[in-house]
Amino acid sequence: MNAFDPQNFYYATTPPPPPHAPLAGETRADVCIIGGGISGLSAALHLAERGFSVALLEAQHLGFGGSGRSGGQTIFGYASGQEKLEKLVGKADARFMWDIALEGMKLQRELITKHSIACDYVAGHMHVGVKRRHDLELRAEVESLHEHYDYRSVRLVERDELRSLVASERYSSGIYDSNSGHLQPYKFTLGLAAAAARAGVKIFEHSWVTRLDLAAEASIDSLVHTATGSVRARHVLIAGNALLGRLVPELARKLMAVGTYIAATEVLGEERARALITNNAAVADINWVLDYFRRSADHRLLFGGRVSYSGIDPFDSARVLRARISRVFPRLNPRIEYAWGGYVDITPNRAPHFGRLAPNAYFLQGFSGHGMVLSVIAGKLVAEAMGGTAERFDVFARIPHSDFPGGTYFRRPALVLAMLWFRLKDLL
Ligand SMILES: Cc1cc2nc3c(=O)[nH]c(=O)nc-3n(C[C@H](O)[C@H](O)[C@H](O)COP(=O)(O)OP(=O)(O)OC[C@H]3O[C@@H](n4cnc5c(N)ncnc54)[C@H](O)[C@@H]3O)c2cc1C
Repeated sequence: MNAFDPQNFYYATTPPPPPHAPLAGETRADVCIIGGGISGLSAALHLAERGFSVALLEAQHLGFGGSGRSGGQTIFGYASGQEKLEKLVGKADARFMWDIALEGMKLQRELITKHSIACDYVAGHMHVGVKRRHDLELRAEVESLHEHYDYRSVRLVERDELRSLVASERYSSGIYDSNSGHLQPYKFTLGLAAAAARAGVKIFEHSWVTRLDLAAEASIDSLVHTATGSVRARHVLIAGNALLGRLVPELARKLMAVGTYIAATEVLGEERARALITNNAAVADINWVLDYFRRSADHRLLFGGRVSYSGIDPFDSARVLRARISRVFPRLNPRIEYAWGGYVDITPNRAPHFGRLAPNAYFLQGFSGHGMVLSVIAGKLVAEAMGGTAERFDVFARIPHSDFPGGTYFRRPALVLAMLWFRLKDLL
C-alpha cells in the first residue's frame, strides 16, 4: 500500500483474498495481460472462457488501482455525453457505443449473479443539479435520452421530490436512473479475479512490468518482462490505465491521472443512513469538480469529491471532505473513519481510449469516471477481438484522441490552470 491510501475503507473491511505469487522465470501463455483491475480481469475471464491460456501480471495487488478505490457508482453512458460522441464519431457509431454501454450494465449484473459475487450491488442512481443552469441541462438531457435513445429508465426528479429522497437543501433537481446503481468495487474486482482463476487464468501479483518487446507481426510472439521473469505470448493486453506511468509513452500522452478522494464516515446506523438517501441511490452532482456519495451496506456515508490535477495530496483529505459533507448535510456532523484517494483515468475528450500498439497488442484506458461499467464490457470486447471478431472493438479504436496539452513536463501545470477555470465555471 502506498501513502496515497493509508485508510481505504474497502481494503480494511473486505476479507483478505488469497494471495498470488510473483512471476518467476519464463512462462508461456496465449495472452499476457498487464493490470489486475476490472478491465484486465474481465478480459482474462472472457478470454479463458473462449479457451485461451492467460497470464495476468499485476504490479501490486489485485484492485490496487481505481477498481479497488472507486466511488462504486455504476453509471449509464459515457463521460463525454452522447452529443459529443456524435460529433467525434458520427451518429451511427455513437448510437452503437451507447448500446454497448447498456450491454456493459447488463453484463455486470449477469457476472455478479453467474459468479455469485457478493459486492453489495444496489440499483438506482441520481445526477443532481445545484443551480438553475443545471436544472435546464438535466431537463434537456432527459428529453434527449427519451427522444433520441429511447432510454426510458431515466426520469426527471423535481425539487420537492428530490428533497424527500436526499435530505439536503443543496439540490434543485435531478435525474433518477433505475438502470444505474452502485456496488462495492473492491469486492466486485476480487469476485471477477476469483472467477478468472477458476476458469484457469494464472494471476501473478507484485509483478511490475518493466519492459515490453511487442512483436511487429501477428504471427510472432511478444515478450513481457518483470524484474523476476517474463511471459512469452501471442497476444498482449495493456490494462494498467492511470497507473501505467511511462511504460508506454504514447499511451501516457493521451491520459491524465487525476487525483480524487473519498471518505467513509463512522457507522451511522440504519435509521440515520436511510434518512440521508431514502431510496438508497448513488448520487453525483453535475459540477465539473463534483461531489458523489452513497450509503454503504454497513450504513455509513461514502462521500467523494475534490480533485487534484497537480497529482499530489497536499491537504488533509479527511478534513476537506468533512467540510464538503457539511455543505450537503449540515446537521450530520459525522466522524470520518476512513479517507483515501486514487487516480481517475481521464482523456481530454472524456471518451474511452482503446486501440492497438502492434497487430496483437491491445490497450484499454481513459474511462473518464465511467470505468465501473465500461471496463467490464471493454474486457469482453478485447476478448472478442483477440478471438478474431474485432468489429465492435474497432468502433472504439476509431474514436479520435489528442494528446494532453503541455507535453510530458508541462501538462500538469496546464491542467492545474484548466482546473481553476472549471472551478470558476462551477461558481457561475
Ligand atoms: C477515487 C476514485 C473514485 C472513482 N469513482 C468512480 C465511480 O464512482 N464510478 C466509475 O464508473 N468510475 C469511478 N472511478 C474510475 C474507475 O475506478 C476506473 O475507471 C476503473 O476502475 C478502471 O479500471 P482498470 O482496470 O482499467 O484500471 P485500474 O483499476 O486502475 O487497474 C490497473 C492496474 O494495473 C496495474 N498496473 C499498472 N501498471 C502496471 C505495470 N507496469 N505492471 C503491472 N501492473 C500494472 C495497477 O497496479 C492497477 O492495479 C473512480 C476512480 C477513483 C480513483
